[in-house]
Amino acid sequence: MITIMWNPWHGCRKCSPGCLNCYVYYLDSKYNKDSNIITKSAFQLPLKKDRQGNFKIPSNTTLATCFTSDFLIEEADEWRTEAWNIIKQRSDLQFLIPTKKNT
Ligand code: SF4
Repeated sequence: MITIMWNPWHGCRKCSPGCLNCYVYYLDSKYNKDSNIITKSAFQLPLKKDRQGNFKIPSNTTLATCFTSDFLIEEADEWRTEAWNIIKQRSDLQFLIPTKKNT
């Protein structure tokens, strides 16, 4: 089974003791990037098509979502409906959505 990362947005806020050594903050710090700033990222990845019009990501692939953010982070509220629509359009994929946010 293939697993691909899908990061529709990037950046996160520390919200628990488990965030103390967050790898996102660690990696961003190497590039002087502020991890507190939430930005849209590779949003359309699941819908990308090849020249023949087929989805680049094949059916039954697992997409691990938001490994450089959190799918339920408040700053992404306005983008999440669009993300759910993409997920509905690719019902042939599995989406893994871990979160530390309890809304
Ligand atoms: S929720 Fe995850 S990505 Fe966000 S700060 Fe905590 S450890 Fe990092």
